[in-house]
Amino acid sequence: MPDIDTNAWGISDKAARLHKDALVWDEHCGFAFTGPGSADGLDRWRNAGVDYLSINVSFDVTPWELGIQALSYYRRWVREHPELLLQVETVADIHRAKREGKLAITYDIEGMNALDGDAGMVELYYRLGVRHMLFAYNRNNLAGGGCHEGNAGLTAFGRDVIREMNRVGMVVDCSHTAHRTTMEAMEVSDKPVIFSHSNARMLWDHERNIWDDQIKACAATGGVVGVTGIGRFLGKDGATVAHLVEHIDHMVELIGPDHVGIGMDTIFRKDDFSDLLEKNRAFWPERQYPPGGAIGYVMPDEFPRVTQALIDRGYDEKAIRGILGGNFLRVATQVWK
Ligand SMILES: [Zn+2]
Repeated sequence: MPDIDTNAWGISDKAARLHKDALVWDEHCGFAFTGPGSADGLDRWRNAGVDYLSINVSFDVTPWELGIQALSYYRRWVREHPELLLQVETVADIHRAKREGKLAITYDIEGMNALDGDAGMVELYYRLGVRHMLFAYNRNNLAGGGCHEGNAGLTAFGRDVIREMNRVGMVVDCSHTAHRTTMEAMEVSDKPVIFSHSNARMLWDHERNIWDDQIKACAATGGVVGVTGIGRFLGKDGATVAHLVEHIDHMVELIGPDHVGIGMDTIFRKDDFSDLLEKNRAFWPERQYPPGGAIGYVMPDEFPRVTQALIDRGYDEKAIRGILGGNFLRVATQVWK
């Protein structure tokens, strides 16, 4: 197993020691699967001291069958790179990956079109490694409302899916979802609910961001809000670690350090994504995503700088360990089967 060069992180010895020792968890990356080559670059997370990564396999924009192909591809990729990667099935696998210096891999789905109208698909996806799924991707669907299309509520189908997710052990995720649907989903779920990658709307008024009542309701379920490194959702300077930590600060002030995490949502092949965005404008309305404007991403390589920034802001070690990964680990321990 190749060693990680912690000097390359460019942070203090104290920060590097903590970052290396802590469980570092990225709750979401948005690869937009396009076939072979889609797993290139996973070593960048591991080299940045990240221990756990959830890879997106499917979202409402693309046909759900593509998600099955993505799962097949990624699971095979992980199997064929056992020196670097570990396919997670249980919480114990996360601890094993950490001990062995490997990047622990799970998957997530954005939007419930992936179920093709059948709540029974939840268990199938769970068995394939999907550990959290959110309701709608920006637009309304069979399960509920999207954040860029009015303010629809949870449907009867959406309620069925939550019950099935609770039963199976899949974490209910409210990112990308309309305010009303998120509040109703948090009411219906009898397990902790997360926002895998959502920032604070009080700091930056974008429809993808969430209001303080959503943040508080999430914490009340025992859940975690993962702040995202997407520049368009961060603030006027775009994708900076400074902005990311401002959103962490805001959430910690509201709900305390035990309910905040990170879902960076890095995309490597930005050209593929720009093309998808331009061809599917209904999902990314121009009023929120102006043509030609950059989306911007905090890259995985910048993870160590988040730890440094939290130390610099005066966070104690326990809070930092929670935000870096301990909090999402707690949710997984409570919800997964
Ligand atoms: Zn997303």
